[in-house]
Amino acid sequence: TTVFVSGATGFIALHVVSDLLKAGYIVIGSGRSKEKNDGLLRRFNNHPNLSVEIVKDIAAPNAFDEVFKKHGKKIKVVLHTASPFHFQTTDFEKDLLTPAVNGTKSILKAIKEYAADTVEKVVITSSVAALVNPGDMGNPSLLISEESWNRDTWESCQANAVAAYCGSKKFAEKAAWEFLKENKSSVKFSLSTVNPGYVFGPQMFADSLKNGINTSSGIIAELVHSKAGGQFQNYSGVFIDVRDVSKAHLVAFENPECAGQRLVLSEGLFCSQEAVDALNEEFPQLRGKIATGEPGSGPSFLEKNSCKFDNSKTKKLLGFKFYNLRDCIVDTASQMLEVQNQV
Ligand code: NDP
Repeated sequence: TTVFVSGATGFIALHVVSDLLKAGYIVIGSGRSKEKNDGLLRRFNNHPNLSVEIVKDIAAPNAFDEVFKKHGKKIKVVLHTASPFHFQTTDFEKDLLTPAVNGTKSILKAIKEYAADTVEKVVITSSVAALVNPGDMGNPSLLISEESWNRDTWESCQANAVAAYCGSKKFAEKAAWEFLKENKSSVKFSLSTVNPGYVFGPQMFADSLKNGINTSSGIIAELVHSKAGGQFQNYSGVFIDVRDVSKAHLVAFENPECAGQRLVLSEGLFCSQEAVDALNEEFPQLRGKIATGEPGSGPSFLEKNSCKFDNSKTKKLLGFKFYNLRDCIVDTASQMLEVQNQV
């Protein structure tokens, strides 16, 4: 079975590619440049079941046409993970919203055009951001589940970069469900979305930490590199380990019951305070050197400052246990400290 993975060089996607290869799938990955793609092949030791294609910018209309023209007749499963995830912009439409939405539309359009009879499953990496906007995330009287939608509009989500990123995930996911509704008779695939909370956990390859860091892992890096007595931003929300996110991408297309479902990936609520507590308790070499905040205050902070989540439907569909916060943070930070000690 051949699986296409867009954005294959990303933090989550590298785990997905690894899990797919381990499970015996043939993988075609897209990356933005020859350099990135060469790096991808090298990291997987030129695995015979892995090949790559360049998709330079998913914002471009028809971005995926060439790939599907060339490989469409082989591809049975499409995992669309590529989407901008950063807050370094003031042009939210150009840098966040448009690429997210266009990328989703163009990959589905390419499937319809060149692989309508072959692609059976499409999994889109959406987000908890598609379920709830940043403001509502802090509302303790709100309950979020697989049925929820971020209530921001195209306009209101452009209040700041975080809201715009969240909006980009909502509008991209909506575009996918709408595409399927409108094209039901001309495509064969069923659609599932994977909607993770904050994703932490180790990089698939430790050397990824040497040239910048992906946005969600940056939250933990900031704590590992904080100063004694220093302040940190107390991020809060739900979290999930990247190894579970990867696994869920496979179950999403392997388990027929996941067809048509939104899989909300959360092991539970988290805030930076709880993560920093874990670091101080688990790493003697960090104790006294990094921030402490108000140890133990995490749970009461979350009770007052976070909405509630119910993803029991997803847990039942996936049927595997998620990494807990402690193990997730310890494995994330251990890798960061190891890499730091090498330089
Ligand atoms: P990364 O930034 O590591 O991965 C994003 C991938 O998308 C990269 O390969 C990136 O390429 C690619 N990409 C971004 N913009 C474009 C573009 N315009 N054209 C082509 N490729 C592009 O982050 P993650 O692995 O964390 O994110 C993967 C997916 O998971 C995204 O859809 C994200 O929204 C979603 N997600 C992530 C969460 C998290 O906490 N990490 C939580 C919920 C959802 P390049 O690096 O070369 O720019």
